[in-house]
Amino acid sequence: MNITENIKISDLTTFRTGGNARFFCEVFNDEEIKSAIEFSREKNIPFFIFGNGSNLLFSDKDFDGILIKVSLKGIKIESEGVNFSIVSASSGEAFDDLINFSINNNLSGLENLWNIPGTVGASVVQNIGAYGTEAKDFVVSVEGIDINTFEKHLFKNNECCFGYRESVFKKNNNIVITKVYFKLNKNFIPNLKYSGLKEKFDNKKKITAKEVKIMVEKIRKEKLPDWKVLGTAGSFFKNPIVSADKYNEIKDKYPELPVFNIEGDFVKIPLGYVLDKICNLKGHRIGNAGFYDKQALVIVNYGNAKAEEIISLLKLAEEKVFEKIGIKIEREVELIGF
Ligand SMILES: Cc1cc2nc3c(=O)[nH]c(=O)nc-3n(C[C@H](O)[C@H](O)[C@H](O)COP(=O)(O)OP(=O)(O)OC[C@H]3O[C@@H](n4cnc5c(N)ncnc54)[C@H](O)[C@@H]3O)c2cc1C
Repeated sequence: MNITENIKISDLTTFRTGGNARFFCEVFNDEEIKSAIEFSREKNIPFFIFGNGSNLLFSDKDFDGILIKVSLKGIKIESEGVNFSIVSASSGEAFDDLINFSINNNLSGLENLWNIPGTVGASVVQNIGAYGTEAKDFVVSVEGIDINTFEKHLFKNNECCFGYRESVFKKNNNIVITKVYFKLNKNFIPNLKYSGLKEKFDNKKKITAKEVKIMVEKIRKEKLPDWKVLGTAGSFFKNPIVSADKYNEIKDKYPELPVFNIEGDFVKIPLGYVLDKICNLKGHRIGNAGFYDKQALVIVNYGNAKAEEIISLLKLAEEKVFEKIGIKIEREVELIGF
């Protein structure tokens, strides 16, 4: 395992902020995970586990510890049923590579999650979601190493406490995820719950998982920045879930407010609309950072933005949304070192 010193954090995350990390290493197997954690304990410094760094905002300060990038590789079919296969994917695999593996093996279910620039390990930390599908819908179990005992654990789906961008791994970061098992369908049933995706197929009778993947990419390109060109971590905030009463109160004031979906007595509000049409923040900039001009839910780094500039945008959004509709919004992006 190669440990390097004084590494620019901005090269390791898609938001491209941060100072220098004192140490950095990439781990490819369980032994290296253990060695990297032991190294941090010997030096009495903190460690931080990450994947592709696409959901992180690092502060402008240096990180006086070791950043450990999880790069465990391998995807395979473990077993087969009549209508499904169980596929295992190591945590350092790109989620897109898992989707391609699935499509190439005539398996489906994950295609709506195409083009999310993260790893398999982080997909269950955040319970990634897009266009009506969430990782949790296909996860059978998650394998991980306890950072204190170095013992392996297997968490069944119901033990992962998945919620909207939530899981047990987010609340308790004592586990380094090594592998995730997915149950994927042999018979393709498209998930077209998201109306924007359904419209694109225009009542076409027979569609394939590959076509859904291509369409998802098209929709994403219309709304989201290319993270290889503009620094970003995707949606900065969660869409707020409010009671039906609260929704009606807001709707009385802003009759045009659309609604995402209704779960029991709760309503999910499209925050992008609120930031754009009610708070007028779309395209608004502070220094080198701003609310993306095609989707206000996304904050972008136009080049050399300070993390502090992004934090100013975060505070502005929090204040404006509270002032206009009385809701406290929550972040989707994780802040490190503030
Ligand atoms: C352009 C863009 C579009 C996006 N679109 C979406 C979207 O549609 N839906 C969505 O849900 N998200 C989206 N995201 C956010 C992000 O890609 C996801 O949250 C993704 O899962 C993060 O993966 P990562 O490997 O980059 O994780 P990182 O950002 O590296 O880490 C995220 C968290 O996971 C933890 N972690 C990472 N790997 C492990 C591991 N092996 N074991 C334990 N903990 C680990 C880290 O400690 C951290 O807490 C988008 C981001 C961008 C830049």
